Amino acid sequence: MISFASQTQSAIDFAADLFRQAKHAVLLTGAGLSTPSGIPDFRSTGTGLWSRDEPMEVASLSTFRTAPERFFEWFRPLASQIYYAQPNSAHLALAGLEKAGRVRSIITQNIDMLHQKAGSQTVIEMHGTMQTLTCTQCYHRVEAALYLDKFVENGRIPCCPQCRNILKPDVILFGEQLPQAAWSRAQREARNCDLMLVVGSSLEVLPVAGLPMQALDRGAHLIIVNNVQTYLNVRADVVLTEDAAVIIPAIAEKVLNG
Ligand SMILES: [Zn+2]
Repeated sequence: MISFASQTQSAIDFAADLFRQAKHAVLLTGAGLSTPSGIPDFRSTGTGLWSRDEPMEVASLSTFRTAPERFFEWFRPLASQIYYAQPNSAHLALAGLEKAGRVRSIITQNIDMLHQKAGSQTVIEMHGTMQTLTCTQCYHRVEAALYLDKFVENGRIPCCPQCRNILKPDVILFGEQLPQAAWSRAQREARNCDLMLVVGSSLEVLPVAGLPMQALDRGAHLIIVNNVQTYLNVRADVVLTEDAAVIIPAIAEKVLNG
């Protein structure tokens, strides 16, 4: 049992109360949730992988189209880091809340599949997924597992089994539209929820960053667990700045076991 400072403990208790009262709780998760799983947040500086190149440039749709070998060279170490990462205690606790009927859906900005690996069922992926690859020519879709092992091992760019053109990971690159179906679902969840818990997102990337505002405007409660300030901290019912991998299990424990 971890003991928290009394102010933190009261915030955890209050967050748990809000969960127990909620009829439609929705989660919004970002990079900070996966940093304890060893996946760097590419927006924070000096975290190795992402800061080595300018991600906005190399992880863009235009680089992918014009110089795919550059994209894949940059993507290779990242792919291996993401692909072999394991969910941390926060992912597992969130999956437990969903299983207990306390969470309706998870809107995520992450592409790492860690919610699914943790056992979560209703995951709305705003920035795509590492789970599959799609052919840029004939749109044939394949399971990434069949290709990423080899790619990570020898760097060979994955090719379509049907037409031999390049396979693109189904992650949303800079300059690429958000998946429309996921965006519609996320908006519907934000508008219909009575509680939103934001974990590990600094709410800087639009339009996803606007979802908690939509929830607040319809009277929902807001809990923010993030180690940096967000523009909505002033409007949140509860703000916790400690490590999500510590705080989220503590909230979940309180919700489920009182
Ligand atoms: Zn093809």
